[in-house]
Amino acid sequence: MLERILNWLFPDRCAGCRRLTGDLFCAACRARLRPFPPFPPPPGLDAAWVAFRYEGSLITAIHQLKYGRRRRVAHALGDLLAATAGPLMADALIAVPLHPERLRERGFNQAAELAARLQRPGNPPLIDGLARVRATNRQARLAAEARAANVAGAFVWVRPTPPPPRLILIDDVLTTGATLAAAAAALRAAGAQSVTALALARSVIAKSGVQ
Ligand SMILES: [Zn+2]
Repeated sequence: MLERILNWLFPDRCAGCRRLTGDLFCAACRARLRPFPPFPPPPGLDAAWVAFRYEGSLITAIHQLKYGRRRRVAHALGDLLAATAGPLMADALIAVPLHPERLRERGFNQAAELAARLQRPGNPPLIDGLARVRATNRQARLAAEARAANVAGAFVWVRPTPPPPRLILIDDVLTTGATLAAAAAALRAAGAQSVTALALARSVIAKSGVQ
């Protein structure tokens, strides 16, 4: 109720188009989203699925979330991801962790915020236990080969018991899949049998030839 009154007094600005629509990601921006077509999984992942193309108002919204630190934008985007992905088949969901330094800087992990919205009846539970132990350069500035080298060995499973066998790793943006593959390698080393990647959006690096 309080939220409704506050939103009436101070309507939310859409994170995609910046208009005062009262929505964190408005209907017009949602209507312009284009699904990302199926693609073969990047090396190191058993399967990969991406909801939308990383373009237009979705880029603006993801930037608002991550760099503008508008945490609530993850609620709208996470609900979109959940609705588009449908029921998820696995033993557990794991959000790609941030390095503690980056987490302190941003105040929250956007992948975990998205993954929290996938906590719905019928979906597997969201678990933690994967840690990012090495600070890495920002992937956005790197080419494909440099991305893989940058994140190799960056993750580790920190629980004494192994992770459940079938896992879905959640991230906001998948580019070459290098970060997700490095996270998957750490989970396999700890005993996981299959690791699928699920991301909100995929960007395209023209030079690498990776779609
Ligand atoms: Zn909008």
